[in-house]
Amino acid sequence: MHPYIKDQTLSWRSGVVLERQGTKALITETYGIPEIVIKVKGVETKELITLIAESFDSMYKRFENLKVKKLIPCNCKTCRNLDDPSYYEYMRLIKRKEDKKVTIECDLSYENVEITSLLDGVFTIVKDESEFVSHRKVALKAFISYSKFDGEESKDAVNYLEDFKSALNPLIEHNKLIETFDDTLLIAGEDWDNRIREELQSADIVFILVSNNLLRTKYITKTELKIAFDREAEGKCITVPIIIKDCGWEDISWLAKNNAVPRKGNTISSWQVKFKSKDQAWKHVYDEIKKITEGFLSKEFV
Ligand SMILES: [Zn+2]
Repeated sequence: MHPYIKDQTLSWRSGVVLERQGTKALITETYGIPEIVIKVKGVETKELITLIAESFDSMYKRFENLKVKKLIPCNCKTCRNLDDPSYYEYMRLIKRKEDKKVTIECDLSYENVEITSLLDGVFTIVKDESEFVSHRKVALKAFISYSKFDGEESKDAVNYLEDFKSALNPLIEHNKLIETFDDTLLIAGEDWDNRIREELQSADIVFILVSNNLLRTKYITKTELKIAFDREAEGKCITVPIIIKDCGWEDISWLAKNNAVPRKGNTISSWQVKFKSKDQAWKHVYDEIKKITEGFLSKEFV
């Protein structure tokens, strides 16, 4: 989309303004709300939005696990003037049209709206100012690689896996930005090796809770991390080492090349060196992961 960025100052971390032949598009993503809003104004809105949609489609194809939903705003008399109109799922409209249904009922006004007018209007006029809004829902899939010996099965009083998931809770539960998988979610009797490989093959992010226990577990280093780093090399995922305990990870080349969290060689177990409390150390981890997630979602935006 680069050729259409008219003014570089109008391009920022989570949004951009594009201009093509007098038609402008504003693309924004609000952190914490898993959707991308596209608004287009001008004469050739249909052409520009088609270009943008194609660009997004190719971007999402790379991250096959991103959940993408295309929503079409309602154009009934009530919704037309609302900032937050009723929306129809694009695929649902297509299905109804194929099934020879002419109209669909608006959830807000109960008015029957013509499906062709919704589909034809997708890329053109929605509001008086020729504004088009498209919402997409996204959630990143994350795999957590960790050693059981840093958790409840050990004499360790601390369960690092649970602490880590608690720290990420606002991203997981409240903003639905990340979905995590770790082997505690395996079901009894399940082919665990197969399931772990499948989860890794479809992960967007792999979090590695680094400790000596993790580094000496062969299954983790030879299988889990091998798959993760191979896929990262192919641009299919990113890996994020979280250094939970002091250990010699910086001397392991494939691990040391990554930017680890906490930053600057700090660890969670030795939180006293840098942080006022363990909670503050985890908050630091949370902030860094939030930044990484944001960066991941806005990557290739333009
Ligand atoms: Zn409506």
